[in-house]
Amino acid sequence: MKLLFEKSIPGRRSYYLAPCDVPEYTLPAPMQRQEALDLPELSETDVSRHYSALERLSFGVNQGFYPLGSCTMKYNPKINEKLAALSGFTEIHPLQPEHTVQGALRVLYEAERSLCEVTGMDAMTFQPAAGAHGELTGLMLIKRYHEARGDTPRRKIIVPDSAHGTNPATVSMCGMEVVNLSSGADGCVDLEALRQAVGPDTAGFMLTNPNTLGIFDPNIMRITEIVHEAGGLCYYDGANLNAVVGVVRPGDMGFDCVHLNLHKTFSTPHGGGGPGSGAVGCKARLEAYLPAPRVVMSEEGKLSLQQDCPESIGKVRSFYGNFLVVLRAFAYLTTLGQDGLPEVAKNAVLNANYLMKRLSERFTIVNQGFCMHEFVITMEREAKEKHVTAMDMAKALLDCGMHPPTMYFPLIVKEALMVEPTETEGKETLDEAAEIFLSLYDRAMAEPETMHEYPKETVIGRPDEVRAARHPNLRYRKAES
Ligand SMILES: *Cc1c(COP(=O)(O)O)cnc(C)c1O
Repeated sequence: MKLLFEKSIPGRRSYYLAPCDVPEYTLPAPMQRQEALDLPELSETDVSRHYSALERLSFGVNQGFYPLGSCTMKYNPKINEKLAALSGFTEIHPLQPEHTVQGALRVLYEAERSLCEVTGMDAMTFQPAAGAHGELTGLMLIKRYHEARGDTPRRKIIVPDSAHGTNPATVSMCGMEVVNLSSGADGCVDLEALRQAVGPDTAGFMLTNPNTLGIFDPNIMRITEIVHEAGGLCYYDGANLNAVVGVVRPGDMGFDCVHLNLHKTFSTPHGGGGPGSGAVGCKARLEAYLPAPRVVMSEEGKLSLQQDCPESIGKVRSFYGNFLVVLRAFAYLTTLGQDGLPEVAKNAVLNANYLMKRLSERFTIVNQGFCMHEFVITMEREAKEKHVTAMDMAKALLDCGMHPPTMYFPLIVKEALMVEPTETEGKETLDEAAEIFLSLYDRAMAEPETMHEYPKETVIGRPDEVRAARHPNLRYRKAES
C-alpha cells in the first residue's frame, strides 16, 4: 500500500482558507525555513480513504471474534468513550485550584471507593500507568512495610512459574530477589513447595488468581495463610479479575495488595500502547505508604488533594495517573452496578467453558475440568506427530476471519494456545468459532503439509518475528525524486 507521501499530488488541497483580512507579517530572515516543508498534498477524500484502507489491513474487535487470551475484556462500551470525551473532563489542568475541579476529584474519590469495594481493599492509588507499573508500586509498598518494622532481612518474593513475565521482572526492578515456585501437576500452587519456600527472609508472594491457565486455585485461603504465618505479605496480580469481578474479592482471599489493569477489566481499549492504569489497592496496614497526593474528603464534603503523606513511598508518576482511564472505569462500574458486575464474570466463565467443551472434541485441553475465563490448548502431540504447531493453527485462523488466541503462553505449556472468548460474545459467534477451529483441526490431520502456508489473505504472512523485534525498521526513507 502506498504511503500518503507517495500518493501526494502537487497542488492538491483539502482546505480552502478565507482571504486574509489582517496585515501579512513576514518572519525575520533567520527564522525563515530555507526549504519548503515536505508534506503530502491530498484532498480530504484521499486522506479519508487512506485511513479506512489502513484500518482494513489490521484486525480489530469490530471485525470479528478476538479470543486473545489473558487480556480480558475486548469490547469496550462506547458510552464510556463519550463520557471520557466530555470537555469538562478533558479541558482541565492538573494544577487548577481544587475548588474548580471538584467533579474530577469526585470521580477519583468515588472510583477509589468503588474499586476498593470490588477488591476488598481499604485504599487505592491511580498513579501507576499500567499493570507492570502497578506491580512495582505494590512491591514498593510491601518493601516499605517490612523496612518500617525494622524487618530488613525480608528481601525475597515468591513467584509461581505460571506467572506473567512482568512479575519476576518487577521483583528485580524493586531490588528484591525472586524465588521461583514450580506449579503442581494440576497447574496450581504446590502447597508443600510453598511451605518449603517461605521463611524469615520472605517479603511476599505474588499470585494471579485465576492463574494463566485459567484455573482458580482451590487452596487460595491456605496459600495466603502459609505466607502470612511466615511473616510475608500477599500480592494479587489482578490482570485476570474479569473472571471473578463482583463474585469474589482478593481482599477476602487473604491478599494485602492488588493491582487492577483498568485497561483490561474496566473499559479502556487495550493494546496499541495507549494510556492504561495499573490501579493499586491495599489493606489499611499499607495505606500510609501509598503514593501522594491522595484525594480526601472533608466533613463538609469538600474534596482536596492531600500532599502531606510523610510515610509515602513518593510519587510513581506525574499528578494523579491517567485520569480519563479511571473515569471510564468509574462509568463502567456505575452503569453495571452491583447486580450487573457479577454478570460480566459469570458470562466470561460460561463462554470460556462452552467453547472449551466444544473444542475438546478434537483439541487437547491443558487441565481438564472447569475453567474460568480462559483455557489453554496444547498442540504438543500434533507438533510431534504431524509437524503442525500452535503457530500454524494461529496463522490459519487469520484467514478464517478470526483473531488467533495468544500463542506460546504460559511458558509452562508446550505449543500453547490460550483462548479467551470474553463476556461480550453470543452463542452464535462461539459456535461459528468452534466450527472453524474443528474444521481446521481436521484439515491439519488430513493434510498437515498445507498448514504451513497460512495466512494467505493478510498483508504480512509470517514475518521473522525475532528479527522484527531485534532489528525493527521503523524509519521511512523517501525515494529521491
Ligand atoms: C497484562 C498482564 C500484566 C501486565 O500488565 P500491563 O498493563 O501490560 O503492564 C501482568 N500480569 C498479568 C497476568 C497480565 O496478564
